[in-house]
Amino acid sequence: MEPTILQRSDHVVSRKNISRNALTVLYRLNEKGYKAYLAGGCVRDLMLGFSPKDFDVVTDATPQEVKRCFRNCRLIGRRFRLAHVMFRDEIIEVATFRALVSSEPEEDEVEEDPEDQEPGLEEMETAAEHEELDEAEPEPAPATEDVVVNEETGVVLRDNEYGTPEEDAFRRDFTINSLFYDIEDFSIIDYSGGLSDLKARIVRCIGDPEQRYQEDPVRMIRAVRFASTLDLDIERETYAGIQSQCGQMAHASHARMYEEILKFMYSGAMEKAFSLWMETGLFDVMFPGFSDWYREQATDSEKQWLTKALQQLDKWKTHKVKASQELAYTLLLAPWIRSVWREKEAAGDLSPRDACMEAVFEVQKCLVDRILIPKRIAFRMFDLLFHQKRFEDRRSAQRISRFLHRPFFRDALVLFKFDALALEKPQPDLIAAWSQDLKKAPPPRERSGRPHTHGRRPRRRRRR
Ligand code: ATP
Ligand code: MG
Repeated sequence: MEPTILQRSDHVVSRKNISRNALTVLYRLNEKGYKAYLAGGCVRDLMLGFSPKDFDVVTDATPQEVKRCFRNCRLIGRRFRLAHVMFRDEIIEVATFRALVSSEPEEDEVEEDPEDQEPGLEEMETAAEHEELDEAEPEPAPATEDVVVNEETGVVLRDNEYGTPEEDAFRRDFTINSLFYDIEDFSIIDYSGGLSDLKARIVRCIGDPEQRYQEDPVRMIRAVRFASTLDLDIERETYAGIQSQCGQMAHASHARMYEEILKFMYSGAMEKAFSLWMETGLFDVMFPGFSDWYREQATDSEKQWLTKALQQLDKWKTHKVKASQELAYTLLLAPWIRSVWREKEAAGDLSPRDACMEAVFEVQKCLVDRILIPKRIAFRMFDLLFHQKRFEDRRSAQRISRFLHRPFFRDALVLFKFDALALEKPQPDLIAAWSQDLKKAPPPRERSGRPHTHGRRPRRRRRR
């Protein structure tokens, strides 16, 4: 099939807006005689005038050939190998064009426990010499390029994963995510109608939506995320497919769902996304107990609190502030947790502390079949909620100092201020006093300055 090609003079994508590292990778591959394209979300975002979060490259070079082009490159993944070209502040992922394997579900290659996702990447920060990484990294199986062998059984799973640009475009989720930017002549290559859908501002599944959602249910919430974040409409069948297949969400990886929900909360369009979750029926399948509580028990003021919380998440994005994961999840779930907490405390046989702890873990358990909230995050949510009352107690300098030194103090204060606003109970004196004290609090713990990889460990890259 002949693609539609948009020449450089007919589109807005400029190299000025492409990361230098990505350009280096594209040019190098191209010099060595390979096709080298930018692909996926970065092309979509550049076409829409946004700055992409990351730049993914696709090529007809095999992973081994990519590796031979770069000293600072390592191969990852077992079933489908990808090359990571490592730069000091960025990792450029280079994939070989993939064949269409439509019958296969898009599973995680490694089911990650988000609890296990703390940086732990000191090796990357200290490894000034990229070659060290190559040596430290054992070569993953299998031995040949296009034969995939199950390590345990030795069974050959498939003998050619690599495909043409066209096949690669068609295995992607939405037409707007399947455009290529060709470094050879700076043109945009479109096999699936993504250009006209971008123009019409439509999210449209590639292929039969029901089938694509069955293969990978996370595509349903990706559709909603792109619609809300990029302010697009969801095409009719793509939308109808969500309504008929949303029950499939139960089969999505729970760890992956935790990350997907976070992407929503950091997207700047959480309020809009929440109403789309409701409208499509996704809310009920993504958050089983939460949706029951929201529909049957939540009071108007609890619903208003939640709406303000969603708006707050969006405001932070506008101001380029990134809330911690625990604060983001607390904002989303606090009204529900607090309601369970109140019930437990009212029952009379638990201390307030135990009631709060039980409420947090009951909620975590209720969601666990859909969203795996790591225990570490659940404990922090408990800290943020339970310790709120300490803001009212400024009787002794020692207590104040002890609170200030708790690692969750900063987030707890944010929640305190938010509550004051949302509940319309301004506490100007208390807030002023604690904000003053904040200057004496230990600096926030630096998150690792790891190169950008969507918050994942490079070595355990999820399969697409
Ligand atoms: P974001 O702005 O969130 O990064 P993105 O479209 O770049 O959006 P990624 O998760 O970075 O999303 O994926 C990169 C590309 O890989 C997508 O644009 C799409 O082409 C393809 N892709 C990602 N997830 C899937 C999926 N579940 N099914 C098919 N293709 C996918
Ligand atoms: Mg991306």
